[in-house]
Amino acid sequence: MKKLKEKIVKEGKTIGETILKVDSFLNHQVDVELMQEIGKKFAEHFRDKNITKVVTIESSGIAPATMVAMQLKVPLLFLKKQKPNTLQDEFLQTTVYSFTKERFYELMVAKKYVEKEDRVLIIDDFLANGEAGLGAIRLMEEAGAKVVGVGIVIEKAFQPGRSKIEEKGYEVYSLARIKRIEEGHIEFVEEN
Ligand code: 5GP
Repeated sequence: MKKLKEKIVKEGKTIGETILKVDSFLNHQVDVELMQEIGKKFAEHFRDKNITKVVTIESSGIAPATMVAMQLKVPLLFLKKQKPNTLQDEFLQTTVYSFTKERFYELMVAKKYVEKEDRVLIIDDFLANGEAGLGAIRLMEEAGAKVVGVGIVIEKAFQPGRSKIEEKGYEVYSLARIKRIEEGHIEFVEEN
């Protein structure tokens, strides 16, 4: 997605050769017009998959995932990282390793929001080692739903996330694929 890549080049800040910060439009402040276009792009790609629910991870996945859900006219469900006192329903939980924070965290979902008939599209802001995506897939499958695809705003293609998710048989569709980060320069994977 050309506009997204231009935005990454213009406003992204790199930390070493692996981390990209996009706080100005995705991870802190949100460019809602760009998010709307991102939502349309994902919806266009997954439109014929009969998706019944869009699932993401709090908090940075919520903005793009909301836009996709709005386009597809289905509910948005976000997985929680902390169990709130108010979560008294029966819930499912899985442990995930965070690449950026270098620690383990929990992902949770109340069972009542996932139906056996659900066809789920998972959306996330970044794909690195695939741990968050695989955790979300595990939870959904455990709840009995079918995951029909994973949509990623920014994929760091030099990390193994895509292959780990594809190996398990799920489609990964990314809007910007970064091939390399070198001395602050961001190089994208050529799309044909
Ligand atoms: P994974 O689980 O695929 O290793 O990492 C994905 C999650 O880690 C994303 O949900 C995102 O929150 C965070 N993440 C991974 N790499 C980056 C990065 O370069 N920049 C930012 N802002 N977040 C990242």
